[in-house]
Amino acid sequence: MKSLSLLLSLVAIALAVPTSRKPFLLNGVTDGFMSDEAVWDTINLDPAALRLVQFEGWDPVWITEADKIHAKQQGIPFMDITDTQDLGSFSTLTSHLKPAFPPTLNATEQVKSVIKKLSTDGMKANLQKFSSYRTSQQWLLSRISEITADYAPMDLQDLISVTEFTHSWGQNSIIVHIDGSAPTGTVIVGAHQDSTNLWPFLPAPGADDDGSGSVTILEAYRALIASDYRPVQDVEFHWYSAEEGGLLGSQAVARDYESRKVPVIAMSQFDMTAWVQSGTREEVGIVTDFVDAGLTNFNKKLVDAYLSIPYVETKCGYACSDHASWDKAGYASSFTIESKFENSNKHIHSTQDRIDISPEFSFEHMLEFSKLASAYVIELAGWKA
Ligand SMILES: [Zn+2]
Repeated sequence: MKSLSLLLSLVAIALAVPTSRKPFLLNGVTDGFMSDEAVWDTINLDPAALRLVQFEGWDPVWITEADKIHAKQQGIPFMDITDTQDLGSFSTLTSHLKPAFPPTLNATEQVKSVIKKLSTDGMKANLQKFSSYRTSQQWLLSRISEITADYAPMDLQDLISVTEFTHSWGQNSIIVHIDGSAPTGTVIVGAHQDSTNLWPFLPAPGADDDGSGSVTILEAYRALIASDYRPVQDVEFHWYSAEEGGLLGSQAVARDYESRKVPVIAMSQFDMTAWVQSGTREEVGIVTDFVDAGLTNFNKKLVDAYLSIPYVETKCGYACSDHASWDKAGYASSFTIESKFENSNKHIHSTQDRIDISPEFSFEHMLEFSKLASAYVIELAGWKA
């Protein structure tokens, strides 16, 4: 049973547009600003373009791009399924997906040796750069290539490919693949590279959402290859485009894998890993709704064994990050976040989502999530003897 407030919001959305290019009025603030077509052209978005959008508990509904922004401003999550309507429908393979996860941890010494190599030094420099670019995909792609060249031994580099997954909207997702020695499936670590401002014409530094997760998994990748890590299973690191537009990038990638029947063992999402709200205990938020229970329990074991801080269970709702795309495709996916959802960073989706906004923005906290990503990869994908 969905809330009345959501229903009312949806009605407001439905009534808000589509007869003119004037998108909507939000307390009058948008009048004369967001109704200016020249302004829309600066972000290369047609506010009247229709998109098929899925809200929790409702049939898909056609709304405009401007209404998507309106929904976002009201904090209503959604998946934009316009180009991925068949995600989850290639169900012939889903019966043999969702493996049982190991009841015990088996690679303690190896995980600890990689964790020793993790450092906040590179993370700071990377995130400073990453959050300073309006479009950061090209910088991230070249940084990944540099790190691969600098840290992976030559014969490990032969097993690594760095590719772009092309999207029609101009910002591609990035996929790093490490060949396993005897793979039966793929272990995926993900984050989203895009950022948004609720006023889409303003800068969106996205330092926490999701620069932090992007840099967190990049540091795990660096430490793994610096350790000459040779997985048994295939391992991939994904940086998705257009999460903020309704999980567009991750849906496209998950749809591709599902349609090609790629056996994905597990997918773990890192979205917002930096914030420790003052007055709260530092902890790892383990999301328990819209995730795979077995993989989520496995993440709890990893936190207990390898991190310096405890976990806390939390919920974040429907389609709150890219793990939801993999869940919809029938794969086991999980999501870990910086804190309980209610204690997470309130500056996201604004010009204030910066690394220097407050001492609550913590690289040490991010490093705990790099430990988690490293442990997840090694324990699930193995290490060739
Ligand atoms: Zn995010």
